[in-house]
Amino acid sequence: MASALFPLFADLHDRPVLVVGGGAVAERKLAALLEAGALPRIQALALSPAIQAWLDEGRVTWIGPRFHPRALEDVWLVVAATDDPQVNQEVAAAAQQRRVFANIVDHAELSSVHVPARVQRGDLQIAISSGGGAPMVARHLRRQLETFFDDSWGALTALFARHRQAIRARYPDTAQRRRFFEQVLQGDLPRLLRQRQQARAEQWLEQALRDSPARSVGSVVLVGAGPGDPGLLTLHALRAINEADVILHDRLVSDEVLQLARRDAQRIEVGKSAGHHSVRQEAIHELMLEHARAGRRVVRLKGGDPFVFGRGGEELQVLRAHGIDFEVIPGITAAVACAAYAGIPLTHRDHAQSLRLVTAHCKDSLDTLDWPALAQSRQTLAFYMGVAGLDTIQARMVAEGCPPSTPFALIENGSRANQRVLAGRLEQLAVAAREHGICSPALLIIGEVAGLAVDLHWFGAPPLSADQARALPVHTSLPHAA
Ligand code: SAH
Repeated sequence: MASALFPLFADLHDRPVLVVGGGAVAERKLAALLEAGALPRIQALALSPAIQAWLDEGRVTWIGPRFHPRALEDVWLVVAATDDPQVNQEVAAAAQQRRVFANIVDHAELSSVHVPARVQRGDLQIAISSGGGAPMVARHLRRQLETFFDDSWGALTALFARHRQAIRARYPDTAQRRRFFEQVLQGDLPRLLRQRQQARAEQWLEQALRDSPARSVGSVVLVGAGPGDPGLLTLHALRAINEADVILHDRLVSDEVLQLARRDAQRIEVGKSAGHHSVRQEAIHELMLEHARAGRRVVRLKGGDPFVFGRGGEELQVLRAHGIDFEVIPGITAAVACAAYAGIPLTHRDHAQSLRLVTAHCKDSLDTLDWPALAQSRQTLAFYMGVAGLDTIQARMVAEGCPPSTPFALIENGSRANQRVLAGRLEQLAVAAREHGICSPALLIIGEVAGLAVDLHWFGAPPLSADQARALPVHTSLPHAA
């Protein structure tokens, strides 16, 4: 079996390095070398425009059109990035003879050093090697790591580098130092860095060095889970869900999203579904406070975006009043997600210049809406929680002068495998929805743009047409909320 590669990070600052080749690959290598502060020399017949620009700026030195072994005399490393196998071979052989490390791009066998796939956060670098045999595996892993380490890790690294002497003085013993670091990670420092509270982070560390690291007093991350498709989570949301000890989630949050939590995380459904509230809002506040005070990593997970008809504001006010720190991670709100997944551009130069997000939650909210404003043209309306109020919405819109022929689209379970889209004219809305048995969660879009759903649909089944619904008499009472 071949021996394993020895990993090392090379300090190439102010050291000459030879690059053979002047195309796109050479350009990428040169960029990395320049970033590392190396002094690149280049041998190539033709240079890419970017390489030419570096040459003009004096950052790269051109030393001839063709590789010559003499060029290896005083360099620390040579990189061959040509597509000529003969030249690559020549470079490898000459480098071997002169004991200069050589990286022959895409030729693991010819290379005496390999350039790893890497994740970089400031001075922190994670390098991944497959031994040269399976670069795809290394690249795949790199992408996964990219999502797990946000750039606060760079800030953490810099902070620890700045306080290195003080930390060593305070904890001379390695085991003690390691314990100190573990405690720091459990405390509030990572969160302060994520929140870009540099000064507070600095104070926190100084304080921790004077006394000992304070245990986290607990904090809550308010996270938007998006409309259901886990692919629509943000990287921050994914990380928070992965790290959570306790997840307090609404019913709207999909199982696929909840499955991303750690197995040992406690999941508590506190959610409401349209029509009935399973846990009172005050009880949700109590649960958040209780778990946060116990020092747990609490994620309050809400469907869509936490600040759009999500009562996120109220929950944060309670946390602030009780001195509990928090973070907010936005999510893709139902209007944005459903529109995208139904092929409806929410604004369009020909049809709509503005977008209104409207709640049709209950009779009270329907009564207090500004219907004359909603009935105006050249805008798009997105009604949340509207399934029970479709008759009222249709009747009031038409009564205020919105043309009965205005297109609508009703999107049920938007972005999920069971998504259905019903498209038609405003005058057909309530009857067609009943006929097709549209249930919550569903989002209603009214406006000229809704008509585009028929042409621009790309996800799931094509829209159901309201014309196919049997003509039924309009009910006078509100239909049953799903
Ligand atoms: N905070 C959420 C909205 C909560 S109100 C957000 O930003 O999306 C709940 C309403 O959102 C539902 O009644 C429905 O109108 C809408 N909704 C949420 N998820 C939906 C989905 N996947 N498909 C259709 N409508 C959805």
